[in-house]
Amino acid sequence: SKQSGKGKNSFYKEQYQYEFSRRVEIQNNIKNYLKNDAFRLFYQPVYCVKTHKICGVEALIRWPDVTPFYNPDEFIPIAEESRFINELGNWVISTALKQLAQWQNKYSDTLNMAINISPVQLQSECFVEKLLVEVNKYQINTHNITLEVTETALIEDNLKIADVLNSLSVKGFKIALDDFGMGYSSISHLTTYPINIVKLDKSMQVAESEKSIKIIEGLSLMLKALDFEIIAEGIETQSQHFLCKELNINFMQGFLFSKAIPAENIEQLLIDCCLS
Ligand code: C2E
Ligand code: CA
Ligand code: CA
Ligand code: CA
Repeated sequence: SKQSGKGKNSFYKEQYQYEFSRRVEIQNNIKNYLKNDAFRLFYQPVYCVKTHKICGVEALIRWPDVTPFYNPDEFIPIAEESRFINELGNWVISTALKQLAQWQNKYSDTLNMAINISPVQLQSECFVEKLLVEVNKYQINTHNITLEVTETALIEDNLKIADVLNSLSVKGFKIALDDFGMGYSSISHLTTYPINIVKLDKSMQVAESEKSIKIIEGLSLMLKALDFEIIAEGIETQSQHFLCKELNINFMQGFLFSKAIPAENIEQLLIDCCLS
């Protein structure tokens, strides 16, 4: 009826207004957190499957407030829309590299740091030059830095992104293709872009059916034949861990071993068991 039609309309309008004000609020918070240096960086260990030692960590940003709390999956896209992502991304890079320099001095100079990079950052002005300034400031070898780029960044066959990734690769950074197998996976990305590492998305580990195991097996054979290093993400069970070993997957991450934790807690892990 006319009545319900009108009701529906104002329902959508309210939804829209709610969504809009939520975005504005998140953007304002991001701005303030950046100004006050309030964001936190957590780290998830990456394990070598063969030796079960920690070979590196992945830096994952955390929202500083408890209420309302947002996951990076919620606020990173909003930061990308508002271009705060460049400032946020710069903060992540310098915080992670400073931390890596400390850990390399204390524990092992081969320790690796993986940093998630938004496609907006990759296309920002002088990204490579600015990154190199930070790397030199902390005197880190570019071989020990992995830049993680999601597949969605590559779907448009973006020439600028290809260009930037090539310069980064020439400088010695490792490039990881993140979330492989999640949705847009295209084999052509593997040959078009200078990729060293492929991260098998956690959604691939979820269904442990015979078919999905065969898919992971086939994929890992193909990736190995093409000389990619493989990181299996989202390892939550012993049987997934076992499969990584069976398939000779190089590295793994997941809640079975550790979630992302503050820097102090990572140090404890490094001291306890993991470096030779
Ligand atoms: P991602 O790069 O794919 O990171 C992996 C996500 O899976 C992380 O979520 C991690 O906490 C979670 N995870 C790790 N192991 C397991 C597991 O065994 N099971 C399950 N269910 N989940 C696991 P998080 O930290 O919430 O980050 C979500 C996404 O937000 C990241 O996905 C990444 O795309 C983005 N992100 C996080 N930090 C940054 C950052 O500093 N910069 C940028 N540009 N994006 C970031
Ligand atoms: Ca990642
Ligand atoms: Ca991922
Ligand atoms: Ca992801």
